[in-house]
Amino acid sequence: MIETDIIVIGAGPVGLFTVFEAGLLKLRCHLIDSLPVPGGQLIEIYPKKPIYDIPGFPIVNAGELVDNLMKQIEVFKPGFTLGETALTLDEVENHFIVTTNKGMKHKAPTVIIAGGLGVFEPRKPPIENLDKFEDKGVEYIVRDPEFYRNKRVVISGGGDSALDWTIYLIENKIVKSLALVHRRTSFRGHLDSVQKVMDMANAGAIELITESEVVGINSNGNGHVGSVVIKHANLGDIVKEADHFVPLFGLTPSLGPLADWNLEIEKNAVKVNTLDYSTNRKGVFAVGDINTYPGKLKLILCGFHEGTLAVQSAFAKIHPNKKNVLKYTTVNGVSGF
Ligand SMILES: Cc1cc2nc3c(=O)[nH]c(=O)nc-3n(C[C@H](O)[C@H](O)[C@H](O)COP(=O)(O)OP(=O)(O)OC[C@H]3O[C@@H](n4cnc5c(N)ncnc54)[C@H](O)[C@@H]3O)c2cc1C
Repeated sequence: MIETDIIVIGAGPVGLFTVFEAGLLKLRCHLIDSLPVPGGQLIEIYPKKPIYDIPGFPIVNAGELVDNLMKQIEVFKPGFTLGETALTLDEVENHFIVTTNKGMKHKAPTVIIAGGLGVFEPRKPPIENLDKFEDKGVEYIVRDPEFYRNKRVVISGGGDSALDWTIYLIENKIVKSLALVHRRTSFRGHLDSVQKVMDMANAGAIELITESEVVGINSNGNGHVGSVVIKHANLGDIVKEADHFVPLFGLTPSLGPLADWNLEIEKNAVKVNTLDYSTNRKGVFAVGDINTYPGKLKLILCGFHEGTLAVQSAFAKIHPNKKNVLKYTTVNGVSGF
């Protein structure tokens, strides 16, 4: 059993910064995340994209922001349970017990849910035996572009993710070859990204195969992807040799197990009181993209503010007889435990 002051569910940007604000109040945190690495959407969906609306950073790459947040909380030595999903939330004698899908138990007087979009579930194309090739050449998310260095890659999808990664992998000369397969002739992404991809196709840098979908995968003989079968609306089946097939059809947001924790839910999000982002369960707070209230904006900046206020009330529950006086970091500095 891991014991701490605050169990933070979700190690996205908001969960990470909440740890910092809790640390300033000398409250210990333990983070739980289903993903194997911290960073939430910033790492899962857009690690290489620039963000322009983080105060004090005219421009910062999503991955870099996560690195900085991790550095900022280092001093408070938070604990991490990564690659495990928080499954149940029980109450025992004024404490909460959060148990993960792997049976790991965490105990604390307060819980802050920073679960973002919930548990990420990639939308998968209906291809027979697709699961057989998962992590053997089929990936639903580009985690590290270097993974595709000198590889033959087939991406499929028509949204920003498919377009952005096509552009990134080509502009940075990472892949050996790239084919982008899309069911329609038009794309749903930003107009300038669509134009860039069209220019790349016209220049022969990529193969753009529209009015088509990937319908089959063949092994290279060792159980790894060796080629994909592409069904064209008019031309029939095309077999394309490939080392990787990356279907980028988006992620289905789902509250996941949190939906069964007797929390008040509205529009697929946890209802909170904006006084301190508390939920209907005393001692449980919800911050970042996972919560909802009148005027809610799903922005990192707003999540940082929410986490800051939530830890103030968490402090009052953990130390009912202590008065917490706001101290500036410029005056007190930042020191660990
Ligand atoms: C393409 C794109 C571009 C964006 N650009 C910007 C931008 O420029 N500026 C901006 O401010 N915002 C931007 N956003 C929005 C921003 O990414 C989100 O507001 C932010 O990620 C929310 O942070 P979070 O920590 O609340 O949630 P998330 O980043 O979603 O992290 C939540 C974490 O909780 C985990 N989790 C959920 N449920 C459980 C569970 N039961 N057990 C264990 N772990 C769980 C998830 O695995 C995840 O890692 C963008 C979003 C996208 C998709």
